[in-house]
Amino acid sequence: MTGFSDSFQRPINYLRISVTDRCNLRCTYCMPADGVGLVSHEDILSYEEIHTIVQAAAELGINKIRITGGEPLLRSGLPGLIEMLASIDAIDDISLTTNGILLAGYATELKSAGLQRVNVSLDTLKQDKFESITRGAQLSDVLGSIEIAKSAGLEPVKLNTVVMAGINDDELLDFAHKTIDDGWHVRFIELMPVGGESTGNLLFVPVSDIKQRLEVLGKLEPCFHNAGNGPAKYFRFPQAKGTIGFITPVSEHFCFHCNRLRLTADGKLRLCLLGEDEIDLREPLRSGISSAGLKQLIEEAVARKPLRHHLAEGCVPKDRPFSQVGG
Ligand code: SAM
Repeated sequence: MTGFSDSFQRPINYLRISVTDRCNLRCTYCMPADGVGLVSHEDILSYEEIHTIVQAAAELGINKIRITGGEPLLRSGLPGLIEMLASIDAIDDISLTTNGILLAGYATELKSAGLQRVNVSLDTLKQDKFESITRGAQLSDVLGSIEIAKSAGLEPVKLNTVVMAGINDDELLDFAHKTIDDGWHVRFIELMPVGGESTGNLLFVPVSDIKQRLEVLGKLEPCFHNAGNGPAKYFRFPQAKGTIGFITPVSEHFCFHCNRLRLTADGKLRLCLLGEDEIDLREPLRSGISSAGLKQLIEEAVARKPLRHHLAEGCVPKDRPFSQVGG
């Protein structure tokens, strides 16, 4: 079925599913140093429950799924979930967002299960900096995973880089060279004031500034190949096989094109990444709600999607750690 849209006539076809709130990294911009409270295991949706929700959502018009977290590869049996979701007729695109630490060990199995693509978060190309941003991880694990994911056919592998002034903005050109020399697809993301250490706006770098700094290497040409389902705007240098994407949640929100819903690990449909409104699906599911009833709740959620977020007015969601909502 097609034509699922919200009260502002935005087509809704994309569901991001957080399968766990646990993470094996403690990135400074995403989590406070002392970590965050965790949801108890019995409150996390089972794979069967996720499958039931996706089946209902697919009957309404959702056809694209992204698995995220926390770190989704920490949840055991993830390829099994991918296989269950890939067997739903209307679902034609399944992708994963990961920090890449464990990806090398799962890439082939995930691909066989039906996963199409991965986005890997990577904020620096330097080990010492990687260790300090992630509070302790090894860069070589992620670099190795990127190559293995490509060999497994999980392509395009897109890299998500959150740009922070004085932390990694000295590496913009290094990342740009990777798009030219190695065909990498790099997406620069503006830092949002959520989740991590409170640094005010001190680390924020607008995409307009990032783009200008990159253009010392040549003119960035708009590029529509591999553009994906999301808000990134893509460019490439004339001599590059890879692309550069820009994501501007802060300087130029893209809410008017928002096509997504988010399912939290504990079974709430979240209507906006940066808003607190949610509809619970877990308790109705566990109380035996019918498929028709579940679809009605999903429709209610879609009808309640807000027009836009209000970061510019200083409204930041405080109800949950960012890592629970799934970025
Ligand atoms: N663990 C997975 C990963 O690292 O990709 C998935 C979850 S992570 C929360 C999803 C994305 O959110 C990552 O690309 C991360 O860089 C991004 N993110 C986290 N905190 C952010 C912030 N304050 N501003 C912008 N992006 C952020």
